Amino acid sequence: MPTPILVLNCGSSSVKYQMIDVDTEEVLASGLVEKIGLEDGNLTHKTGGQAYRIEETIPDHTAALSLVVRSFEEHGPSLKDAVAVGHRAVHGGDLFREPVLIDQSVMDGMMSLAGLAPLHNPPGVLGMKAALAVLPDIPHVAIFDTAFFSTLPAEAYTYAIHAPTAKQYKIRKYGFHGTSHSFVSKEVAEFLGRDVTSFNQIVCHLGNGASISAVAGGVAVDTSMGLTPLAGLVMGTRSGDVDPGVFAYLQREAGMDSQAVDTLLNKKSGMAGLADGSSDFRDIWAKVVAGDENAQLAYDVYIHRLISYIGSYIAILGHVEAITFTAGVGENDQHVRASVIERLSAFGIHLDPELNAVRSPDPRAISTPDSSTVILVVPTNEELAMARETYQLISK
Ligand code: AMP
Repeated sequence: MPTPILVLNCGSSSVKYQMIDVDTEEVLASGLVEKIGLEDGNLTHKTGGQAYRIEETIPDHTAALSLVVRSFEEHGPSLKDAVAVGHRAVHGGDLFREPVLIDQSVMDGMMSLAGLAPLHNPPGVLGMKAALAVLPDIPHVAIFDTAFFSTLPAEAYTYAIHAPTAKQYKIRKYGFHGTSHSFVSKEVAEFLGRDVTSFNQIVCHLGNGASISAVAGGVAVDTSMGLTPLAGLVMGTRSGDVDPGVFAYLQREAGMDSQAVDTLLNKKSGMAGLADGSSDFRDIWAKVVAGDENAQLAYDVYIHRLISYIGSYIAILGHVEAITFTAGVGENDQHVRASVIERLSAFGIHLDPELNAVRSPDPRAISTPDSSTVILVVPTNEELAMARETYQLISK
């Protein structure tokens, strides 16, 4: 008897979903609703090796969820078998430190944090309301992107800014991509045949968004994203760390308002900002090979930033047994991995180039046997992580 969980990730104009059997961890169905609120809305539902498409105007999240239900009814598997729904929730702020059963107070709490995640929490709550309306008889669970980092010590999450202002506006490091960092750090332990509480590790989640975490005995002790997902590593279109003075400087000298600076740093910076619009590492690498100087600089800045964080997390953790690469770039780009590991040789960390060149969907080690730290590539799977966490909560 399978135990299917529906996982939902609701954005402002999209809903991604998967139905996962938590017993076998098989994906029974997956789908994507796009362009909610626009005329040319569409839904693609995949199950049993087939894809089914609906194209029609989808005015809001309620209509989107009704279409999802219709797709399951028409093409299967049966939604009636689902035992719970897991919802991706981006910002838990200081209110939510672990997955919770969704009720009105949870949704109110998420809305009270809307200022911290204006693009994510309000659509997330819209999706929760719509899903509760169409699937009222099973538990709905919120899984927060920030939760894994609620264990950060005060010295890691506190910004050295005027304390009363920080307190009033809840300004601190929260961290994001927590579901992925938590999932991958546990997968690493399983791959190594170790108890996650028995060793220290660093996880590099390098996708279009990118973040790195220091995990001591399974507990997050530092991470690169901050109050918002703009901080830290260089990303596809996000700058990562800059001097905070850049904000006032651009307002004063370039006459940009806060929205314009925010857009510049979030959407027009990072790899795309440095490499003439290219944010995908396949494009970046093609340009580097062709001798493009801007792409080369973007690549060098990316690697420099990553090395700086890894070095600092080695210092924070003291002893590190595993450094893991995950997400689109981390799992697929052997050049990035090689460039990073080459620069860590002073720590006795060494890459096996042949293992690094292997392409595989499975977790794997890519370091030499004499490397002081094991280097791993471990695919992330946020949907599976959400399904597992949802099941854990409803089984309590
Ligand atoms: P994600 O956000 O985890 O889906 O990662 C997306 C990013 O992964 C893309 O923007 C690319 O930069 C990178 N990526 C995906 N596939 C490859 C590949 N085969 N080689 C290099 N980079 C890749």
